[in-house]
Amino acid sequence: MKKIGLYPGSFDPITRGHMDIIEKALIIFDEIIVAVAKNSSKTSLFKLSERVELINQIYQKNKAVICVGLEKKLATTLASEVGAHGIIRGLRAMSDFEYEFQIAKINRSQSPKVESIFFAASDDLTFVSSSMVKEIALYKGEIEKFVDPIVQTALKSKFT
Ligand code: ADP
Repeated sequence: MKKIGLYPGSFDPITRGHMDIIEKALIIFDEIIVAVAKNSSKTSLFKLSERVELINQIYQKNKAVICVGLEKKLATTLASEVGAHGIIRGLRAMSDFEYEFQIAKINRSQSPKVESIFFAASDDLTFVSSSMVKEIALYKGEIEKFVDPIVQTALKSKFT
């Protein structure tokens, strides 16, 4: 049976930190569905459709990774609909833990059968976040170590 993992998040935009988690998750899952959420508590730089498009472009040649937008749906609802075996999240530091643990418990309350699975960030990517990348791009700093070239181009055009 094909093992499907659902990786929800804001991905505004996707970073090499997120990509590293996808790579690690592919050791366990046969297919990863990246689910881009609206996140009403954050104002985003990229529209939901743009964030989905960037991810789909990056993984165009990798059939095991697909990306969809979560317009008005909970990640757990999509997880049940697609028969996901796990919800994937990444941990950068202890500071992520409390928030992630809370989200995992909320998700479990909605979909008791879908377990959250955490992957630890690689050492050189623990400090990488979408917000940090946007800040550097805004002030024309060097972002190639932190994002795919496709995202690099998209960020440059946002800040010109
Ligand atoms: P959210 O708004 O749901 O936290 P993010 O796009 O910021 O969405 O992150 C999605 C998931 O990816 C979270 O579990 C987050 O901890 C994880 N993540 C983000 N950046 C990294 C990184 N550099 N290394 C490992 N995990 C990361």
